[in-house]
Amino acid sequence: MLSKPKISRKKGFFKMAYRIIPETKSRFLKIKCPGCGNDQIVFSKASSGIKCLVCSKELASSTGGKLIVKAKEFKELSS
Ligand SMILES: [Zn+2]
Repeated sequence: MLSKPKISRKKGFFKMAYRIIPETKSRFLKIKCPGCGNDQIVFSKASSGIKCLVCSKELASSTGGKLIVKAKEFKELSS
């Protein structure tokens, strides 16, 4: 029996729109750093966490083949 993972909302937690990009959808994302506003292009199949090149803030992390975007603003780049 399969059960869907529950996403709990903690009070006082970051009010960011976390997005999870499935691994099957390989694409490039343009993520706006919430810290310094720098636009950075990342690949959704990144094997590890992605940090801002300017201020080193973590923009996304990779968990179990999925990319979790930790920025409010990001755009999917279609090729
Ligand atoms: Zn930054």
